[in-house]
Amino acid sequence: MIAPYPHLLAPLDLGFTRLPNRVLMGSMHTGLEDGRRHFPAMAAYFAERARGGVGLMVTGGFAPNIEGWTKPFAGTLATSAAARRHRLVTDAVHAEGGRIALQILHTGRYGYHPLCVAPSRIKSPISPFAPRELSARGIERQIRAFVRCAKLAREAGYDGVEVMGSEGYFINQFLVTHTNQRNDQWGGPYENRMRLPVEIVGRVREAVGADFIIIYRLSMLDLIPDGSSWPEAVMLAKAITQAGATIINTGIGWHEARVPTIATSVPRGAFAWVTKKMRSELRAAGITVPLVTSNRINTPEVAEQLLADGCADMVSLARPLLADADFVAKAQAGRAGDINTCIACNQACLDHVFHNRLATCLVNPRAGHETVLLIRPAPQRRRFAVVGAGPAGLAAATTLAGRGHEVDLYEAADRIGGQFNMAKEIPGKEEFGETLRYFTGRLAATGVRLHLRTKIGAEALLASKVDGVILATGVTPRDPRIPGQDGPNVLSYIDVLLHRKPVGRRVAIVGAGGIGFDVAEFLVTPPGHSPTLNLHEWLAEWGVADPGEVRGGVVRPQPAPPARQVTLLQRKSGRLGKGLGKTTGWIHRASLQMKQVEMIGGVNYERITPEGLLVTYGEKRQDGQLIECDTVVLCAGQLPQRELQAPLQAAGVEVHLIGGAHEAAELDARRAIDQGTRLAARL
Ligand code: FAD
Ligand code: NAP
Ligand code: SF4
Repeated sequence: MIAPYPHLLAPLDLGFTRLPNRVLMGSMHTGLEDGRRHFPAMAAYFAERARGGVGLMVTGGFAPNIEGWTKPFAGTLATSAAARRHRLVTDAVHAEGGRIALQILHTGRYGYHPLCVAPSRIKSPISPFAPRELSARGIERQIRAFVRCAKLAREAGYDGVEVMGSEGYFINQFLVTHTNQRNDQWGGPYENRMRLPVEIVGRVREAVGADFIIIYRLSMLDLIPDGSSWPEAVMLAKAITQAGATIINTGIGWHEARVPTIATSVPRGAFAWVTKKMRSELRAAGITVPLVTSNRINTPEVAEQLLADGCADMVSLARPLLADADFVAKAQAGRAGDINTCIACNQACLDHVFHNRLATCLVNPRAGHETVLLIRPAPQRRRFAVVGAGPAGLAAATTLAGRGHEVDLYEAADRIGGQFNMAKEIPGKEEFGETLRYFTGRLAATGVRLHLRTKIGAEALLASKVDGVILATGVTPRDPRIPGQDGPNVLSYIDVLLHRKPVGRRVAIVGAGGIGFDVAEFLVTPPGHSPTLNLHEWLAEWGVADPGEVRGGVVRPQPAPPARQVTLLQRKSGRLGKGLGKTTGWIHRASLQMKQVEMIGGVNYERITPEGLLVTYGEKRQDGQLIECDTVVLCAGQLPQRELQAPLQAAGVEVHLIGGAHEAAELDARRAIDQGTRLAARL
């Protein structure tokens, strides 16, 4: 039998140690780093992924000192007492046969606290705190802190460290004139600006000895206007290798860059060509240091292809291992189709962290909660009916059946997925289809009896004599009651996305929530032309250039012309899209702005006529304006659909409501899947 994924699953010999495969679990801040009470949870989280066969894992960032904090009292490794606490994590990982490195993260001017420091006093656009400019002695203190942190990591049982040199953090800030305007030995010519990372890696190597992994995360593409040039990045890679790095990992884009780098609309493997370019330079110079490529690699097929194409020696998967701890084990067993694929939504991982909540995963609510969300065999087999096969119902049905219960899942439509069948039609959201592929496999594997095209009523449910009913019946669109909305020029988002009713060239969209934004994206994109599925188009659209030709790798974006003229409206005044995801809202807004979508807030909808939509402004409803259009699309929010609840409860049946059926306000798939899973775990 031919081994699946021969490149991905090949071991990698680092000289003093051998990694079992080419998968590096990239560093992700989960919030578990930021409190010692979370260490047992962190140990369980990494142990589960070690058990799943990951070659080498990297922790979330730990600061080497307080100046390097991400936020006040963030995870820091600066004392032996702190190192002792990490034993819980390293022992748990080693007991599963895994390997783990600690990431040393100094945030510099990105630190969200008043003690932050930087090469020069230049405030970042993403933090309210201006950094203190370091003196030469201050810089020496930071280097010593990195070295101390690495030694403590070794003391704590880690197999290595990752020195975070990219994403616009402290080390990266020294490399470019954008943030380093010093004229001492740490500023000015590039040889001076790159002195800091080279000193750090060299002195860390000296301190930890030869048999300890040092990964250096190198910013190969800054994506800021005056970022590093390509010859500079290559010079740095060579110097870092010489200084003693074991592995070079790829960093793409500063946090302040205006190019998306990991969102779902970024094509898979979109930046592997940058690592490939670097690898060719280093190989041509006789340097064989292993390189890791990163960003939007979420299936074993993509990873295997990138390695086979010579883009890198390893792949970094971060969020895909939140989504499925057994990614590697499933690939090894030839069961890649069973992988719960990361859809790159950021909703439960990055967005949570930015809201000071622990990271988890939209498609896998157990991630980060391994010690509390336990899915155990049911003590007694019971019979359940689950009504609705949207995300909530799918999560509940498969979890219940996985625990040994007998489950019937009823779905009115001819396929599973509920609203995800519309979400996956949005250009840039194609990944959402992967979740439906995953659940299709889970339904079969867990033995759920699926009844498609079955709009079940209370009577039939009562006749089925089940022990409990779970209503996951979702939502119905809210009726905005605009005079004239029953005209032929008015459609709902369901008409547009599911029934594909014809839409005119000029469109007004009523409602600018998540669905209004998505419908706008759908309507401005010519059918079959999602840039996410075409790397060249996507790079041009966002203005990403070859860093060998343009410093920093950014040029003027060249979006394709919009397919329609779209106006997006809401009644609230102020900026549209405020409620969108913390880390992705700006991408949706920028994308629509590039497609010349007009965004208008503070309107009253007066009436719809054959000529268009008449709106007024303010409480006095004055200054009427006709938004001329051929089609009006209603995206005015949703209401829960739960008419089965009352008759079932009246008959004494145990009824549970989840997802949209439970609460439509601020509903998303994150809540739907989480609720379905948690309920099913305890029934
Ligand atoms: P639903 O998905 O609405 O599923 C309910 C199901 O119940 C339906 O399939 C329905 O046919 C079935 N049903 C109802 N009554 C009966 C009955 N009597 N018998 C049998 N079956 C019945 N969420 C995100 O988190 N991120 C996103 O990026 C995102 N994008 C979206 C984009 C679009 C265009 C849309 C429309 C939604 C998007 N959502 C997104 C929202 C997300 O899809 C919903 O929050 C989620 O689907 C709600 O899940 P649910 O299971 O509660 O309900
Ligand atoms: P939503 O986000 O609640 O937005 C509803 C929109 O309709 C708002 O713009 C609201 O703004 C408007 N509205 C509300 N009542 C109205 C009325 N009576 N008349 C006219 N307009 C009205 O809901 P949604 O867009 O339907 O999305 C549903 C859920 O899916 C959301 O909760 C969202 O989380 C999820 N979703 C998420 C994403 C994502 O990217 N994360 C994408 C799509 C959907 P005004 O009241 O100011 O007019
Ligand atoms: Fe991936 Fe979304 Fe899960 Fe984050 S929340 S790991 S982006 S699927």
